[in-house]
Amino acid sequence: TDLLAPRALTFSVTKNLAARSPQERDEILANPGFGKFFTDHMVDICWSEQGGWHRPRVQPYGPISLDPAAAVLHYGQEIFEGMKAYRHADGSIWTFRPEANAARMQRSARRLALPELPTDYFIESIKQLVAVDADWVPMADGTCLYLRPFMFAKEAFLGVRPAHKVAYYVIASPAGSYFSGGVAPVSIWLSAEYSRAAHGGTGAAKTGGNYAASLLAQQEAYDNGCDQVLFLDSREGKYVEELGGMNVVLVYKDGTLVTPDSKSILEGITRDSILQLAEDRGHKVERRNVSIDEWREGQASGDIVEAFACGTAAVITPIGLVKSNDFEIGSADAVAGELTMSLRQELTDIQYGRIEDRHGWLT
Ligand code: PMP
Repeated sequence: TDLLAPRALTFSVTKNLAARSPQERDEILANPGFGKFFTDHMVDICWSEQGGWHRPRVQPYGPISLDPAAAVLHYGQEIFEGMKAYRHADGSIWTFRPEANAARMQRSARRLALPELPTDYFIESIKQLVAVDADWVPMADGTCLYLRPFMFAKEAFLGVRPAHKVAYYVIASPAGSYFSGGVAPVSIWLSAEYSRAAHGGTGAAKTGGNYAASLLAQQEAYDNGCDQVLFLDSREGKYVEELGGMNVVLVYKDGTLVTPDSKSILEGITRDSILQLAEDRGHKVERRNVSIDEWREGQASGDIVEAFACGTAAVITPIGLVKSNDFEIGSADAVAGELTMSLRQELTDIQYGRIEDRHGWLT
């Protein structure tokens, strides 16, 4: 019953009568930052064990009323997605590989024992919100509308079992250019003490618990003067997994790109796209185990020439320095790698409609 066909793709639309004025909106869009301001509307769809997906609607953005016993508040049965809508020079608005986000949300749903939202419903929910809040998609270079679909257990029941009532929402937040001062390499902290996700755990799902588990390590990264935290595998503490919110790719001097293959990392859509672009250019791509020792020795010997992190929010971030209690890899004032920057350029050119979308990635 998970993929129970939705009855209709017709969303009811209730316009926000308290929507902000064009002046207020423009003020926000002039300096939106990230994740601080939200558009005037949101989408929600209900799910129940008996009724499947029902009552799709667009309504004014605002607080959600939840029973204090709602299962999500106690057991964290929750998943989410993150994607962007981009405005092209002709004013049109595009999303990037939304069907990949829909599929990943279905995989996350299976792992968290939540119902799977059919792909057409997912994509329609995005279209509905972007259509009603189109004026919130900024124009300036490097800006976009960040979209946050999420789903959680709404049933008021304290027994530990998959909830019988679930809600799906989409909210949207205008986002400024991630690197306003130019793309700068980041320093990352290697977490020795904490794992993000266990073998057999929920690491491959986009669920709040993984992020909750990363926060203390993230704080440790800040305390050590780093921007991000790097996690190793939980069994041997030997293999590179990913950052708190980005995947990792290493570039070897023969042009090969290597990225960790692990069942406990999130399969990034940005990473997949970048590796595809690299393959198109004739680069070899390897998805395999890569140990922190391989990274360390490779960088020391000159075999590894670039390292970057990638994800929807920042697209590609060069990694300058990896810092741990025992050793350092690279340096904080490293310059961004050439391949890193040219792949970044190509991907953003596709997203912003500046070059041909040869893979049909835009919707
Ligand atoms: N890993 C984690 C843990 C993340 O939160 C993200 C961001 N969604 C990524 C990787 C990158 O995924 P994507 O490229 O799809 O944004």
